[in-house]
Amino acid sequence: MVDVQDKQFETKCVRGGYDPGVGEPVVPPITPSVAYRYETTEQVHELFDLEREGYFYSRIENPTTSVVEKRVAMLDGGVGALMTSSGQAANLFAILNIASNGDHIVAARNLYGGTVNLFTHRLKEYGISTTFIDNSSDYDAVVAAIKPNTKAVFTETLSNPTLSMTDLEVWAKAAHDNDVLFVVDNTFPTPFFCRPIDFGADVVTYSSTKYLDGHALEVSGMIVDSGKFGFENAYRNSGRYSSLVEPDQTYKGVSYTKKFGEAAYIVKARVQLMRDLGATPSPFSAFLLGNGLQTLGLRMERHYSNAQAVAKFLENNPQVEHVNFPALDTDPNNALAKKYLPKGCAGVLSFVVKGGRESAGRVINAFKLVNIEVNVAEIRSCALHPATSTHRQMSDTELKDAGIEPGLIRLSVGLENIDDILEDVKRALEE
Ligand code: PLP
Repeated sequence: MVDVQDKQFETKCVRGGYDPGVGEPVVPPITPSVAYRYETTEQVHELFDLEREGYFYSRIENPTTSVVEKRVAMLDGGVGALMTSSGQAANLFAILNIASNGDHIVAARNLYGGTVNLFTHRLKEYGISTTFIDNSSDYDAVVAAIKPNTKAVFTETLSNPTLSMTDLEVWAKAAHDNDVLFVVDNTFPTPFFCRPIDFGADVVTYSSTKYLDGHALEVSGMIVDSGKFGFENAYRNSGRYSSLVEPDQTYKGVSYTKKFGEAAYIVKARVQLMRDLGATPSPFSAFLLGNGLQTLGLRMERHYSNAQAVAKFLENNPQVEHVNFPALDTDPNNALAKKYLPKGCAGVLSFVVKGGRESAGRVINAFKLVNIEVNVAEIRSCALHPATSTHRQMSDTELKDAGIEPGLIRLSVGLENIDDILEDVKRALEE
C-alpha cells in the first residue's frame, strides 16, 4: 500500500485516489453498478440517516467516480471533491449549495459565456441575482458589490477567452472580511499551474471536460472544497449559510457543519444537491477522466511550451493587433501571472487580428491542422471565434465589457509537434 498524499504532483496524478491491494487490478476498474448490496434494513436506515459511510445508490456516489474525486481533491489541496455531469453543473451546484431564492452573488464580468448565461438568466429565474464586476477590481470594488444577502464571490483564475486574471488574494480577503465564500473556476490553469486554495479560494470548480481529461473524451465537472471556510462563524456574524448550519429535515435534522466539520460543504453538495438534482456523471466518464489525469502534469508542460512559442510568433506578426497570454512580458496580466502562475499558465491564448470580424473568420477558415472546434484545452490544436460562437448570446456592449473584440480568435494549442502548429498558424495568417 502506498500513501501518495505527501508525494509530488505527478505521483498523485498517476496514483492518487486508488491503492490496489494484493492481486487487485492496477487500473481502477469501471463499476457500472447502480446499487450496492446490504444485509439488513437497519444498515440501509443508517445510510439514509448519514450515520453510516458507504455506497448505496450511484446517483450520489460510485466507486469509479470516487477515485477521480479523491485524486483531484488531493491535487488541489482540498478536503473533498464532487464530480458532476458537466462543468456547467459544477458551477451551478457550487452556487446552489449556499444560495437560494432571494440571495445574491458577485461575479467577474468576463467569465466563460456559459457561466455568464447561467448567472445572468437561469439563476435570476431561481431568484438569485448577480452583480458583475471587472475581474481586475480592487479590494474596495469587491467589497462595494457585496450586499447583506451576498453568498458568493466568483471568478476564473484565467478568464475564457480573454486570458485575463484576478488578484485572487485580494478578492479572497474582500470576500472573507465580509463572511462571504470565494469560489474560483480554475479550468484553464488546472492544479498543475495554480492551486487557488493556496491563495484563499474556499471552493474550486472545473470543467473537467477540458485539461483535466485533456483528450476531449467526456463531459464532466468537478467541485473541490478547501474545507477552510468558517460557515459557523459567518452564520453567527451575519446569519449567512443557515442551510449548512441549521438542521436539514430531509436527513432527520442533521447539521452539516456539526456532523461533517470541515467537509460540510462538499458532503452537503453530494447528499443534498446530487440526491435532489441528480447531475450525476457516468462511471465510464469517471474512468476516462481518471486516465486523462494520469498525464496531467506532462501534458500541461507541453501545452504551455507550445503555446509560448505560438504566442511569441503572434506577438511579432504584423497581421496581429495584440495577443492575450499572461506569460508574455508585454501582457497586462504578466505581474499577476508571475505571482499566481509562476510555472506557466495554460495552452490557451487568444489574439486579435487586424481587420476585425471578417479577417478573424478568414484566418480561422484557412487553418488546416488547427481544428475549428467548439472546445478548448485538449490534445488537438483548435480555434474558435468567440464573438460568433461561445459568446454569441451577448450584446455588443456585453461583448465589449467582457473584452471580446470582433477580431478575437481563441487558439487552444495542442500537443502536435510545435513546428507543424507554427507552420499552420503562419500560413493561415499569410493567406
Ligand atoms: N468553465 C469554464 C472556464 C469553461 O471554459 C467551460 C466550458 O467551456 C465551463 C465552465 C463549462 O463546462 P462544460 O462544458 O464541461 O459544461
